[in-house]
Order: sequence, then structure tokens, then C-alpha cells
Amino acid sequence: EAVGSERTIVLYPSPGMGHLVSMVELAKVFLSRGFSVRVVIVDPPYNTGSTAAFVSRVSAAHPSISFHRLPQVSLSHVHTTNQEALAMELVRLSNPDLLRHLQSTSPLALVLDVFCLFTLDVARELRLPAYLFYTSGASCLAAFLHFPSLHDTTTRSFKDMGDSPIDFPGIPKIPANHVPLPVLDRGEVAYHGFLHISRCLTQPEGTIINTFEELEPEAVEAIRGGLCVPQGTRTPPIYCIGPLITSEDRESMDGRRAECLEWLDSQPRASVVFLCFGSLGRFSAHQLKEIATGLEKSGQRFLWVVRSPPSDDPSTRFEKPPEPDLDSLLPEGFLERTGERGMVVKSWAPQASVLAHESVGGFVTHLGWNSVLEAIWAGVPMVGWPLYAEQRMNKVFVVDGLDLAGVMEGYDKDLVVAAEVEARIRWLMESEGGQALRARTSAAKATAGAALSAGGSSRNALDALVESLT
Ligand code: UDP
Repeated sequence: EAVGSERTIVLYPSPGMGHLVSMVELAKVFLSRGFSVRVVIVDPPYNTGSTAAFVSRVSAAHPSISFHRLPQVSLSHVHTTNQEALAMELVRLSNPDLLRHLQSTSPLALVLDVFCLFTLDVARELRLPAYLFYTSGASCLAAFLHFPSLHDTTTRSFKDMGDSPIDFPGIPKIPANHVPLPVLDRGEVAYHGFLHISRCLTQPEGTIINTFEELEPEAVEAIRGGLCVPQGTRTPPIYCIGPLITSEDRESMDGRRAECLEWLDSQPRASVVFLCFGSLGRFSAHQLKEIATGLEKSGQRFLWVVRSPPSDDPSTRFEKPPEPDLDSLLPEGFLERTGERGMVVKSWAPQASVLAHESVGGFVTHLGWNSVLEAIWAGVPMVGWPLYAEQRMNKVFVVDGLDLAGVMEGYDKDLVVAAEVEARIRWLMESEGGQALRARTSAAKATAGAALSAGGSSRNALDALVESLT
């Protein structure tokens, strides 16, 4: 099929590294179906990992994916440190620039990440079909589709309801205090941003979800059956085309293999527990010491990505976190004592490649959706330690609903103590419970593979999506 500008799809990821990574995977899917793609980037003034380095690497490997960076806008007038509220504001302020860019591109369709639903008006003005790319799971989408209805039935904030279970169609009950932080309090700006976005979820032409139907069949059914929205409201068709797993981290920036992968080469099969907490996960100095002590006492081999603790100084809120000073952050002598069986990586590791390495046998994760999919894809059993965004809801879906992860008890308290870290890691790596979880994870891996194979559900969903686009 001919590739011309009338076959161009513009992809618009939410600000931040995590969203960009999955959008680039979607870009490759469209490329493979003969579309040309352009990824529009709006850079956050806060740090989420180096998008510039990532973009140049992707451009080098896939010259047919074009990137366009919108001019940077200032957020100095916005008085919130909430990342999501900042992301929404950034997208809103970038709308005029996006509009101009789209006018000069005249694409076939626009694919929006969730915080970019603030640009639906732009799409409407240009009469461009807009699709949503939902980078969390169908369960999470089901919850947010239903959120405006909940909002209308009560005047209370979730934060005042303790852990009372909230009923959502198609998903397990969610303790009120497990909804995403910005949604806890009706008094917050971010709450109303999410409410707006949730109301927009019924507007796109269709919704592409990074999941596979067999993973979340009940949520998929509830969405399709219109159970998540008020009667008479249309739910856009959903296309579960995942799991889309990044293949962009295989090499380090200078083309050499990362040191931690070399280290993994020398470790026994399935022997290493990997600890990594998303693009934004950071722990206090006290918490880092507890993790270190627990890891050391567990006696297990480990690969641990350590970041510097969050700063108390609000004036640094937009700055890149400094490299962690391991000598002062970790217990005295920790690195020497564990050097034989453990490796600490500063700030960032090529996670998808690490998980795919045969020496890795367990994963302590914040349960970001990409991390969950990457673990399932690699067949690595998880222990969840939810931190931010929708991760506490993901804990309910993945731990309580799917039984595909253990949980680090104390994640909802001030501190997870060393004894818990030790016990949970031992459980994951050497108990019967851990073995059973490994078997369930392997089964999920096989199902994910089948979904993406010829005749599989995700492949069929992609065919249907392509058809609706053309
Ligand atoms: N990631 C990585 N190295 C790190 C931390 C994160 O490669 O040290 C990648 C990870 O593989 C995943 C993404 O960043 O693809 C994080 O996405 P996720 O949805 O899990 O969490 P988020 O960062 O959005 O909270």
C-alpha cells in the first residue's frame, strides 16, 4: 500500500518517559501496517528520564518514525507538585502549538495518550478522528469510565472513606484509599482534571489498550457491555492489542551492552531478584536502608536500581534528581559485603532487557502497568510495592484479582521494614508459594504470546483497528 501523508498517523504521548516509551512501540505497530507515523513530544520541565537520548536512539534505529517537539511552555505559574496535574496543564498550554502543527501535517488520525484528552477540542476543530491509547490496563480504564458516575452519586471524597470497598463494574472492589492519589480529594485541582479526563473517555473514535483480552476478560466485557457508563451513553470500541513491550532499551546510548546485563551473564539461571520502581519511584533515605538490610539478610542475589531520595526543597521540584550517593545512603559496608552476589545500579537500568535475562528469577516492582506487562512477557514472578499514580489500583487488579503477584506488606504505611523485605524476597525466590506464582506467571506469559500470534486476540484487534482507520 502506498505511504503518503494521507496515511500519516500522529501520536501524542503524555509528557514523560514512561508514556513515550509505550507510544513508540505503538508507532512501530502502525509502521508495520504501512502507515507513516509522527510522534509529537511535549517535554515536561520536570525530569522523567532523558527523552532526548531516547528519541535519538529510536530515530537512528527507525528513521521512518518522525518526531516533532512542541515548544517548551512555562509552568512556573502552576502551584502544584502533582505530576498528573502538571502534565494536564502542560498539554492544555501546548494546544495552540499542536493545532498549528496538525494544520501543517494534515494526518489521517490522531492517537492521544490519556492526559492528552485535553486536546480533543483541537481534533474536533480539525475534524480529525481521535483515538485514545490507554497505557494502563482495561481494569483501570473500567474504573475511570465509571468514575464520573460515582462522583455524581456522592459529595464525599474518597480520602474520607478509609478503606471501605468501592464497587466498580467488571473489576474487584477497590478500597477507597487505593484510588490514585490525585483522585482522593475533591478539593484538589488534579481531582477535577481527572474527572474531566474521565468524562472525555467516552468521546474518542476508539480506544486502543495496552493489554490482552485474556488477561482482563471481565473488565473487557464490562467496558464492551456499556456497564461502566450511564445507560444510553456510548462507550467507544476498544482494541486490546498488547502487550506492547519496549525493545528500545537493548543497547546503551553508546551502543554497548549495559554493565548490569554483563553482570547477569555470570549469575545462575533464575537466581537474581530485580528491584526497580518505574521512571519516578524514589524512597526516603530511611526506607533505602531498610531495603538494603532486608536484601542483605535474605541472602538472595539481587540487582537493585537505587535513586536519590526526594528532596524536601520545593524549589528543586522540576530538577533532575542528583545521582545517589550510595556510600551515604546504604548501610556501612553494604556494597562490600554483598558485592559477590548483588549489584546496585544508579538511577536507571534497561528494565525490559533485564527482565528478559534468564538469570532474573523475581521482580520487586511498583506495579506500573508497563512493568507488569514486561514481567508477564518475560515470565518473571512479581512482588508489588505500589508507590504513585494508579499503582494501588493495579495492586488490587494484579495481586487480589489476577493472583499474579505477591505484595510487600506495609506499602500503605510510612515504612516497609527490613524484616518484611527479607521475608517477601525469600518467599518470592525460595518458597512453594513463590514457585506456584512462577507457574501462574509462566502460564500468563504463554497466553500473552498466543494473543500476539496469528489468529490471536491482540492480532485480531489490531486488524480491526487498522480497518477502522482506513
Ligand atoms: N524503566 C526502565 N528502567 C528503569 C525504570 C523504568 O527501563 O530504571 C522502564 C520500564 O521498563 C517501563 C517504564 O520505564 O517500560 C516504566 O513504565 P511503568 O508503566 O512501569 O511505570 P511509570 O514509570 O509509568 O510509573
